[in-house]
Amino acid sequence: MSDFYTSLIPTDVTWQPASAAAAEAAAYVRRVFPDPDGVQQSVTVGFHDRITAVDAGENVQQITCPRCDRDIALDWYQDLLEETGGEFDSVLVTVPCCETAVALDTLTFDWPSGFARFEIAVANPARPEFAFTPDEIRAVEAILGHPLRQVVAHI
Ligand SMILES: [Zn+2]
Repeated sequence: MSDFYTSLIPTDVTWQPASAAAAEAAAYVRRVFPDPDGVQQSVTVGFHDRITAVDAGENVQQITCPRCDRDIALDWYQDLLEETGGEFDSVLVTVPCCETAVALDTLTFDWPSGFARFEIAVANPARPEFAFTPDEIRAVEAILGHPLRQVVAHI
């Protein structure tokens, strides 16, 4: 069985909320993702010391360079994640297509992917609507005080 995973991350890759706001946001997420049986679902809040890849797992099939518009080999990205463990001090990387420094969060992924120092994730939601709705995203943004993006993955 494949796992389904959805997470909300700040649009600013280095931003982190205060811990009280994060706890309030997690409580809200548990309310809108009820899990009466408590068997399969898990809601997690992650604070990362470094900028961490929150990627869409096997869904990413194509990465395009924002500088030269050429495709970047998936192998390059997989190797990068392997070398760094998916953790970065800076989002700037030298891309193989045009050998220039590009911010990771400006690469165009064919499936939403992101880089963040904070995330709220729901694994295997118990409710039928798996992803966060636009209203729920706005509610979590209001609690945290920062715009968010959703990353959805089958892993
Ligand atoms: Zn390029």
